[in-house]
Amino acid sequence: MISYNDLARKAVLSKPVYNPGKPIEMVAMECGLDPATILKMASNENPLGSSPLGMEAARNAMEGVFLYPENSSYFFRERLAGIRGVNPDQLVIGHGSSEIIHLLCAAFVEPGIDVVMGEHAFIAYKLATLLHEGNCVEAPLIDFRHDLKAMRDVVTPQTRLIFLPSPNNPTGTSNSESEIVEFVRSLPDYVVFCLDEAYAEYIDQPPDLRPLIAEGRKVICTRTFSKIYGLAGLRIGYGYGHPDLVDLLNRVRPAFNVNSLALAAALGALEDDLFLEKSKTCNEAGLAQLTDGFDRLGLEYVPSTGNFILVRFENSDKVYAYLHDKGIIVRPLKGYALPEHLRITVGTEDQNRSLLNALAEYFGN
Ligand SMILES: *Cc1c(COP(=O)(O)O)cnc(C)c1O
Repeated sequence: MISYNDLARKAVLSKPVYNPGKPIEMVAMECGLDPATILKMASNENPLGSSPLGMEAARNAMEGVFLYPENSSYFFRERLAGIRGVNPDQLVIGHGSSEIIHLLCAAFVEPGIDVVMGEHAFIAYKLATLLHEGNCVEAPLIDFRHDLKAMRDVVTPQTRLIFLPSPNNPTGTSNSESEIVEFVRSLPDYVVFCLDEAYAEYIDQPPDLRPLIAEGRKVICTRTFSKIYGLAGLRIGYGYGHPDLVDLLNRVRPAFNVNSLALAAALGALEDDLFLEKSKTCNEAGLAQLTDGFDRLGLEYVPSTGNFILVRFENSDKVYAYLHDKGIIVRPLKGYALPEHLRITVGTEDQNRSLLNALAEYFGN
């Protein structure tokens, strides 16, 4: 008999499988623990939960779910445009910002096309590129930070897309605005540059590439409601760039890709300055608390600009398993070619303390 795999496109089978952080219910079941006691520090979610204004808006939108969502996200784009300082026709809305990454690859990648990304960069770029049969060209990082000169060096006439996450997940490192601007100005006109700003709200002055977009450079920036806004389960994110690029991505975008609850929640969350501020403050305190604790335990980590930290262990498998059995979920990084590291999401003060206590126990002090 012919198997389904025999019938499938080769790219579907050769592409690595994405390994997300383990869900709370799964670990609770595996360890025989109450889900309420499980600590998930694995997926860079907001430990304070969701934006209250976002949740309220989603609850109110429940009544309308018998209707299809508004496919152009008109009202959301109008409001978002005002806040982002762009025109509504510069915004494309996705089922999470990872969908925008997929739309970019669907629009530009085919066999023979190179997509440039950093080694240890967010893995979605690789998965989307391979699915569309492009070549992933990985440039080395320096001290876990994207090296834009190395990235420039691997650009060829076959390059059509470049992805730069800043802050990068999983390394937590960032590139400065001036570095990025200089890099973009050095690119040939046939290359589309994507700045992935999933964690922009955690840094004080995220790079502003709107002037580059205005002067016609081929740039798109992506943001998400999954991280600081605490709406990961609803799946909504967006990209902003030139209207012609947005048009093109909308041609690729599946109809009704963003559901009405997500649209309502994101619209509400956009107004939630208080929640954003609280979340940022909590993250800054948490980063300090965790790095202090890691210093005391003599652990090596990469200084982070995001809401997570990359920590190196002698035996990361054993540490992972130890924490898992105590109901603390962190993220192994074998898929990122970082087998010695675990990525730990910053939690609340209590959560960080539990993690540090568990690590202290592991090391026997
Ligand atoms: C989490 C994350 C995203 C987006 O996730 P979505 O939930 O799809 O919006 C994008 N880029 C990076 C680097 C991330 O870490």
